[in-house]
Amino acid sequence: MVKRIGVLTSGGDAPGMNAAIRAVTRVALNSGIEVFGIYNGYKGMVEGDIEPLTKASVGEIIDRGGTILGSARLPEFKDLEVRTKAVAQLQKRGIEAIVVIGGDGSYRGALALTEMGINCIGLPGTIDNDITCTDFTIGFDTALNTIVEAVDKLRDTSSSHHRCSIVEVMGNRCGDLAIYSGIACGAEIIVTSQTGFEESEVLERLRDLDLIKKKRQAIVIISEKITDVHQFAKKVSLHTGFSGRATVLGHVQRGGSPTPNDRVLASRMGEKAVDLLMQGIGGQCISIRNNEIISVLIEEALNMPRDSRKKLHNLFDRLV
Ligand code: ATP
Repeated sequence: MVKRIGVLTSGGDAPGMNAAIRAVTRVALNSGIEVFGIYNGYKGMVEGDIEPLTKASVGEIIDRGGTILGSARLPEFKDLEVRTKAVAQLQKRGIEAIVVIGGDGSYRGALALTEMGINCIGLPGTIDNDITCTDFTIGFDTALNTIVEAVDKLRDTSSSHHRCSIVEVMGNRCGDLAIYSGIACGAEIIVTSQTGFEESEVLERLRDLDLIKKKRQAIVIISEKITDVHQFAKKVSLHTGFSGRATVLGHVQRGGSPTPNDRVLASRMGEKAVDLLMQGIGGQCISIRNNEIISVLIEEALNMPRDSRKKLHNLFDRLV
């Protein structure tokens, strides 16, 4: 049976990564497996920035955002030569298997390492909810809460000034943060890659909200990478009765204490990852589907099409 495993966080950080590190460490230690923390993702693996973790060293972190192990991007990890160095660092310490907490890029690294004889299990750590094989990623719920809190505040001030707030949220081409927050905040308009963005049509809808529906304010939630929201806000001021203001929430969405849901999700997923490694399984990633924790081959996970969010968009349309 596996005696020593490593754990790392890679790619963009997400609230709940610490809860996952804690779960992996404690479940493994309680099963008689030694655990090593690998600092700064694959970079630390290549450089040998690796330290043993104890139950105490992962104490008092379940409520902390960010990642105590640090995260980094190392594009060179795609090169076999660089990965060979990483494998040598692991072998020197007797580390046989790894839990990789990150996004789909990190999963690719995990798959490549598994193919070199180091069993890896991926955990979905990203606020964007852009990993298609899982209903939810670790960090999504916390980011959603952050957005909802911010938009609720914007609505207060927008209604005092007959404003249209255009709020750009993260998502990395996945519209989930936008559609979920739009429903939760009672936004007037949601724009995602699924809805598409017809500027003139959105302006027309805003004019209608102002002139016909006599709204005192309007909230437009828009996914990142769709349009320049500052330019669009100027057009709202020019072509509608609202004064347009853009707010890019940016990296505040990445921070904060993880919600109970993210903490529990991270703990359940961390447990499953260790159980798989104990069975000698690698090359898989952990998902939650219909509230069940399951594992999926990384290769399959990376090629899975995204579920349509049509039902959520239909619901939104019925709520306005
Ligand atoms: P996020 O969703 O936050 O961007 P991510 O895990 O997708 O997270 P990436 O920067 O795409 O972030 O990947 C993280 C790291 O995984 C890369 O810096 C690189 O070290 C490694 N990686 C990515 N793609 C590959 C690949 N094809 N082969 C080996 N390693 C890879």
